[in-house]
Amino acid sequence: CGVFGIYGPQKDVAKLTYYGLYALQHRGQESAGIAVSDGLGIKVHKDMGLVSEVFTEEILAKLTGHMAIGHVRYSTTGASLAVNAQPLVCRYLQGSLAVAHNGNLTNANELRDKLAANGSVFQSTIDSEVIVNLIAHYGQSSIEDALMKCMIDIKGSYSLVVMTEEKVLGVRDPYGNRPLCLGKLGDSYIIASETCALDALGARFVRDMEPGEIVTIDQHGLRSRRFLTAHEPAVCIFEYIYFARPDSNIDGINVMAARRAMGRELAKEHPVEADIVIPVPDSGIAGALGYAEAMGLMFEVGLMKNRYVGRTFINPEQNERDLAVRLKLNPVTRLIEGKKVVVVDDSIVRGTTSKKIVKMLKDKGAKEVHMLVSSPPVMHPCYYGIDTSERAQLIAAQKPLEEIRKYIDADSLHYLSLEGLYRALGREGGFCTACLSGEYRIDIPAEEELGKHI
Ligand code: 5GP
Ligand code: SF4
Ligand code: MG
Repeated sequence: CGVFGIYGPQKDVAKLTYYGLYALQHRGQESAGIAVSDGLGIKVHKDMGLVSEVFTEEILAKLTGHMAIGHVRYSTTGASLAVNAQPLVCRYLQGSLAVAHNGNLTNANELRDKLAANGSVFQSTIDSEVIVNLIAHYGQSSIEDALMKCMIDIKGSYSLVVMTEEKVLGVRDPYGNRPLCLGKLGDSYIIASETCALDALGARFVRDMEPGEIVTIDQHGLRSRRFLTAHEPAVCIFEYIYFARPDSNIDGINVMAARRAMGRELAKEHPVEADIVIPVPDSGIAGALGYAEAMGLMFEVGLMKNRYVGRTFINPEQNERDLAVRLKLNPVTRLIEGKKVVVVDDSIVRGTTSKKIVKMLKDKGAKEVHMLVSSPPVMHPCYYGIDTSERAQLIAAQKPLEEIRKYIDADSLHYLSLEGLYRALGREGGFCTACLSGEYRIDIPAEEELGKHI
């Protein structure tokens, strides 16, 4: 998901939030929503669809106020339904409250049961609603104190933007699992999932939020508090591999530069004799550039992408995904005929994309097709907000390398090592690598913990 928040004095906060969400659209295409406050009450508009589909000039014009938060959703927990769209808005002891969440709580079920036993009512099936109910539960306290108490209870991954009638707040979980940064536009402070949202508004990047930090923005400006933790951060390494936009900088690392370095490291580890290097657009472009650069090979745009098709992954059904790949990509026959082709993609998850691409290239006359992947095999489920959670679907969890190569029918298949990935990122510590290494530093759901030991 993508989250965004802004505190005035600008009057057109809904419109600025709209543009911010537009720049974060890659983080989720299922639903979009904006909540605004004028200091007296909160108004919200949210629905299924892209930002541009959910909002019109008229709708934005009605969302008047001097502060706003917004959300674009990529579903991991809870079905793809309008009722699960965010921001979630409720009334509590101190007025209205709106919350937008990126990440996945791993103890949402336990907390939900506890809260329900105490009389809380749930309207959606998403874990984020637990946060809203918890804040309401601690409604006697100031919003900052309520959030602190909430942080003691909730486990897992969360980057939040929260809005009361008077304030906008940002919270990054103690592991800093999802990105969250601060920006400034004139006198307005902004909180956003990625820096590309700041750039889109012409806002200035102030800094990344710290793991465990709570930031309050109101008429007195910006204040910060830390939720004390002893552990090292666990920033999602997949943000760098795939999820984030290449023009964003996360915790001091530019995503494009990191991906290009991944391609260079891949070339060091697996130099393949070939005529051309082509990316799987768009996610493989930076890796392919790096690979071609390090190998001294020609980089060619050998696969054309239909710009009007969204991310294939976002369609939750497997049969829809298959069709979507063909709709999305088509080879440029003249470039690949009779050639030994290296294809670079950022990752293989289910193997659907690679299999289709190898077949397409061979059908159009490629002599050899080598699949080079600029990340290590995805072998373990993610419980923190990326939709690879079903182990049965992860091809690398099911098959050894040679079996995967046969399945996708490539002449060779190579992945970047975890060490190579660290070299590309310029540091080793501070990342979550659970889906690649199986090392879960952030708590996993109790059900899964039990399942593991049986
Ligand atoms: P596969 O077809 O192997 O299941 O998926 C691989 C493709 O999906 C790659 O091109 C990669 O860019 C993209 N991808 C990898 N991980 C994710 C993810 O967590 N979410 C989404 N939406 N796409 C992903
Ligand atoms: Fe990111 Fe993988 Fe960790 Fe999930 S398990 S947070 S996708 S690195
Ligand atoms: Mg891709």
